[in-house]
Amino acid sequence: MSPDNGSGRHVIVVGGGFAGVGCVKRLAREDGVRVTLIDRHNYHQFQPLLYQVATSQLASTDIAFSLRKLFREHDDVDVKLGEVAELDPATHTVTLADGDRFTGDALVLAAGSQPNFFRTPGAEEHALPLYSLDDATRLRSRILEVFEAADRDPSRIDQGALTFVVVGGGPTGVELAGALADLIAETMSVEYHDLAVTAAQIHLVDLGHTLLGPFSDRAHDYAAKVLGRKGVRLHLGVAVTEVGAGHVSLADGSALRTRCVVWGGGIKAPPVAATSGLPQGRGGRIDVLPDLTIPGADGVYVVGDIANIPSPDGHSYPQLGSVALQSGVWAAENILADGAGKPRRTFHYHDKGIMAMIGRGAAIAEVGPHRHELHGAIAFSAWLGVHASLMTGVRNRVDAFIAWGWDYFTKSRGPQVLDRADIAKIDWGEDVAPDREPAAAP
Ligand SMILES: Cc1cc2nc3c(=O)[nH]c(=O)nc-3n(C[C@H](O)[C@H](O)[C@H](O)COP(=O)(O)OP(=O)(O)OC[C@H]3O[C@@H](n4cnc5c(N)ncnc54)[C@H](O)[C@@H]3O)c2cc1C
Repeated sequence: MSPDNGSGRHVIVVGGGFAGVGCVKRLAREDGVRVTLIDRHNYHQFQPLLYQVATSQLASTDIAFSLRKLFREHDDVDVKLGEVAELDPATHTVTLADGDRFTGDALVLAAGSQPNFFRTPGAEEHALPLYSLDDATRLRSRILEVFEAADRDPSRIDQGALTFVVVGGGPTGVELAGALADLIAETMSVEYHDLAVTAAQIHLVDLGHTLLGPFSDRAHDYAAKVLGRKGVRLHLGVAVTEVGAGHVSLADGSALRTRCVVWGGGIKAPPVAATSGLPQGRGGRIDVLPDLTIPGADGVYVVGDIANIPSPDGHSYPQLGSVALQSGVWAAENILADGAGKPRRTFHYHDKGIMAMIGRGAAIAEVGPHRHELHGAIAFSAWLGVHASLMTGVRNRVDAFIAWGWDYFTKSRGPQVLDRADIAKIDWGEDVAPDREPAAAP
């Protein structure tokens, strides 16, 4: 299937995340190039703010933007909703799960990542990942559901109703734990006035010995201090060995009763990486050449999270929104160079830094390639500015700013919507009781 309007080269782009959208936006500026953008969702989602949807700070619609609307002024961009099941790199053909096919002159694979449970028994079944908008709304409903259940029957607190376990001390786990602590302390304590909300506990578990691995030592300490102040109990240097319906077991032999385990423990390539037949490397991701192409697969580009993109230090670039966006734009430039008979250029990443938010008013920003470090209120302001500017759509930005302002000044969350009640349902039946509670180091 090809939306042929009779002119120019046709590029198929799989995935409307940061990388895919970056690529399509760049191609859309050129005459004589047609693009078919395929995604399983009809929206672009802003993953860095998923934790704010999960903790009722932002509404789902604040971080999702219709792909059709995004490209409605570009007649040469055709958006198709569909699940890509297979790719044929030789013919630049993608086949959807329902059998529909799309063939182009070039193919860009930008299908992102999926959670990696590292084969931890029970994790895929019982833990809640935080990778998509669907995950975020499911987690939000589970958080609200355990409060409702404990409110109906406070004896469930002993069954772990108000114990939250966050697995992973990277930015996802740290940001979620901080926001959850604020939600419980400032909103739930007011709204569930008949419930002993002070009994709520948040545990953050990580195999590593520090929080926020990619940041500096000072940032590791700052994050631990801020989370400790918010009452989050840290279990560092210890692995999760099992996740059950009502507990989490740790490698030191201890266990926690809980009905809400959040998995922020890592990512790996999505299934389409394996079915593509393209060369897979670390994390199952596709190993690309420095110009983002694949040896022997002419006209195929792989960008963003799904790619191992070589960096000048001999490693690969990290799985970050900024790397994804820039690699998508770069692939578009190289596709245009191919069309013009010019040489492709090696991907160069412009590193603007990294940042993380640890609950209200506390953030860490390491700016630029030399990592100039900002903490506290200045970093918080920088965080607000950067995230608002990266969001797609003026309306989403305005809505997010209103929600952040409301949250900051009123200390009250907005969209506490238990809209996934069926999925968030909890089995309050028997579960293996923990022999020993872990010793936390706040
Ligand atoms: C919770 C969380 C917080 C994060 N925070 C930050 C942060 O603060 N700063 C930062 O720089 N980065 C952050 N990241 C990382 C950043 O979001 C990713 O690096 C970035 O989204 C990758 O972009 P991408 O386009 O490669 O993939 P994605 O954004 O994941 O997009 C992939 C797209 O492909 C589609 N897709 C996948 N498979 C198929 C298929 N088979 N068929 C059809 N469509 C398919 C998906 O629906 C999706 O739209 C965070 C990630 C998460 C999960």
